[in-house]
Amino acid sequence: MNRTTAECVICGGSDNHLVDRQPEDYEYFIKPKSPLKVYHCRTCGCEFVYPRPSVEELTSFYPLHYHTYNDDHGLIAATLVAMRSKARARFFNQLIKTRPIHLFDVGAGDCRHFNDMSKYGDFDFAGVEIKPEMVEAAARRGYRVELGTIEDLDISSYENRFDIVTMYQLVEHVLDPQLLFRKAFSLLKPGGYVTGQLPSMDCIERRVFGRYWAGYHYPRHIQMVSPKALSALIKQSGFSRVEVKSALHLHAAQSAQNFLIGKLGYRAKMTHGKTPLYSSLLLLAAPFCLLEHAVGKGGMMNFIALKP
Ligand SMILES: [Zn+2]
Repeated sequence: MNRTTAECVICGGSDNHLVDRQPEDYEYFIKPKSPLKVYHCRTCGCEFVYPRPSVEELTSFYPLHYHTYNDDHGLIAATLVAMRSKARARFFNQLIKTRPIHLFDVGAGDCRHFNDMSKYGDFDFAGVEIKPEMVEAAARRGYRVELGTIEDLDISSYENRFDIVTMYQLVEHVLDPQLLFRKAFSLLKPGGYVTGQLPSMDCIERRVFGRYWAGYHYPRHIQMVSPKALSALIKQSGFSRVEVKSALHLHAAQSAQNFLIGKLGYRAKMTHGKTPLYSSLLLLAAPFCLLEHAVGKGGMMNFIALKP
């Protein structure tokens, strides 16, 4: 942090150029005090916002009606979210043999997903979250999560304690991705895993939707990462057996909504960043998302890596 030049936040490279595209928020219409500038790194192919926002600015980019802070939107999305929690809990049960499974979630939100996962396994949860209202909501559910950023968090009392560190839709939001993975490494026991999901730059969807690609999600996404660069970043932090793969996700529905709003001027009452068309867009997007995932170029990617 406190970078004085536009160094790539993923690979540290300095061969970067300003992207000729004014970032816009098509979901919550948040306008940062000073407009964001986006750079493309010629070394690793990632894009990142520079100068970096302050923690205070970053927090202000998340309105209280942000979708991950609110209840699910309609039957289709709610069903998908419940299926996802179940699948993740089952996966962790297979991966880790000791009980309870000690799991640290970066960007824990209101910890609703902890409740969902608890139905399918014996977990001991911890985490960190940037938004005070979400930390309070988590406490009401009985979970104690730290307030702030993982970068600033003093993790001395948490080191070498966890079987799993999760980062779902997180890497693209943090101020210092390099420090993020170094801290995840410290949190884990040897034999523990870091895992998560984030938008993939190397997807068919980005080529189709261009600036309306949901992976941009400005101003909250402050870096956009390629699978290759992510893999290198994780390895560089000390992890081994790094796997980065296309994820099955109906991400193109959001890209299509952004396109309708940003390009075609569609306006409708929005709830948690979603228009009334969103459920239909999920259905319409499904065949496209299945196809791009089948060829390994989905809009989202999963990663997992081992602390040796
Ligand atoms: Zn780079």
